[in-house]
Amino acid sequence: MTSEVARHLLFQSHMPTKTTCPSSQVSDDEQKQKRENTRSLTMSGHVGFESLPDQLVNRSIQQGFCFNILCVGETGIGKSTLIDTLFNTNFADHESSHFFPHVRLKAQTYELHESNVRLKLTIVNTVGFGDQINKEESYQPVVDYIDAQFEAYLQEELKIKRSLFNYHDSRIHVCLYFISPTGHSLKTLDLLTMKSLDSKVNIIPVIAKADIISKAELQKFKIKLMSELVSSGVQIYQFPTDDETIAKINASMNGHLPFAVVGSMDEVKIGNKMVKARQYPWGVVQVENENHSDFVKLREMLICTNMEDLREQTHTRHYELYRRCKLEEMGFTDVGPENKPLSLQETYEAKRHEFYGERQRKEEEMKQMFVQRVKEKEAILKEAERELQAKFEHLKRVHQEERMKLEEKRRLLEEEIIAFSKKKATSEIYQNQSYMASGSNLKKDKDRKNSNFM
Ligand code: GDP
Repeated sequence: MTSEVARHLLFQSHMPTKTTCPSSQVSDDEQKQKRENTRSLTMSGHVGFESLPDQLVNRSIQQGFCFNILCVGETGIGKSTLIDTLFNTNFADHESSHFFPHVRLKAQTYELHESNVRLKLTIVNTVGFGDQINKEESYQPVVDYIDAQFEAYLQEELKIKRSLFNYHDSRIHVCLYFISPTGHSLKTLDLLTMKSLDSKVNIIPVIAKADIISKAELQKFKIKLMSELVSSGVQIYQFPTDDETIAKINASMNGHLPFAVVGSMDEVKIGNKMVKARQYPWGVVQVENENHSDFVKLREMLICTNMEDLREQTHTRHYELYRRCKLEEMGFTDVGPENKPLSLQETYEAKRHEFYGERQRKEEEMKQMFVQRVKEKEAILKEAERELQAKFEHLKRVHQEERMKLEEKRRLLEEEIIAFSKKKATSEIYQNQSYMASGSNLKKDKDRKNSNFM
């Protein structure tokens, strides 16, 4: 069994073979110590566990493999064409417009077969990338998408009833970053995007449409790009050199980065062979001709040699980092206050304790606030009541004064009425008397007149 297969098998069973995380340094030391305490024995006869690698190979073949590629690059830079050319399949992606208001990530999954190996391939394409005025709007959706896939995996992993065995792992294993063949330098958007992605995904930069730049210019462009990436601190994926069977080829390919690629599904007859090429009035650019483009180098490195390493790096490096940060954010830690190792149970208990304490403190705070509020309201109500009472007293006093004034007026009026009645009665007596007196005078006059006639 080659070490490549062995690495793959170890990855399949999610037992990382190597890691860059500082936390796993501790477990490496522990393992070393354990190994030193383990005696090595030579078997005296055949037992049969030498077939273990074959068992694992069979199981892996039955399970199938999954590989997820993210293509980041401006609209029309040749992403879909290159993916079609890489997998020699027409994935039938529709041409996208330059007028999308936001960047969208479009994922499509295909099941491919080669011999008896099944590959579940997911191609994620950035739609509308670089078409916005605000650059942040271009790369943030890409970062969020990658994080969302890590989060989905973490949630599955944290479930009580996990089904990682048949879980569709959508974590991005490689990001093909398409650079325009300008011959100048990297655009700000490219630098910003790669910088924000490099700790989350394996980036392989490619110079797209390399047939439209001259060979001499391309060489200079490659050198310039690499020096710009280095000076900006952008970490791109390096083909691993720790496995001696592929160390040489990988080391030499690292020197060819970024690959300058040409894509085409059109076939042209060269000699007596049909080859994938782009035909121009002045000649034919053959996709698989190493003098014309680095397409073959990319395909070899991405699919034939390092696909497994890309998957492994995604799990042991990028996902591990995401998981660690996320769990730390949630308050989980491997060591206690005095650097004492803490188990998950202890961390959980401590967290629960902290949570209850915090809840009690909050409840107490709320109670205090409630009492304070009630007191304030009571004081306000008392003040309002006092004001109302004062108003009432004042009105009562005014009312009493008014009543007294009215009583006085009534008394005066009654006196006036009595006086008037008295006056009226007196005047009536006078009137009667004068009437009676005038009546007797009239009678006397009448009698006198009557006597005169007689
Ligand atoms: P996408 O929007 O990034 O997916 O771009 P496409 O793959 O749809 O390609 C856009 C256009 O560029 C099409 O007309 C392709 O034929 C053309 N194209 C794709 N790859 C190359 C290439 O390597 N060189 C040149 N000159 N044109 C290419």
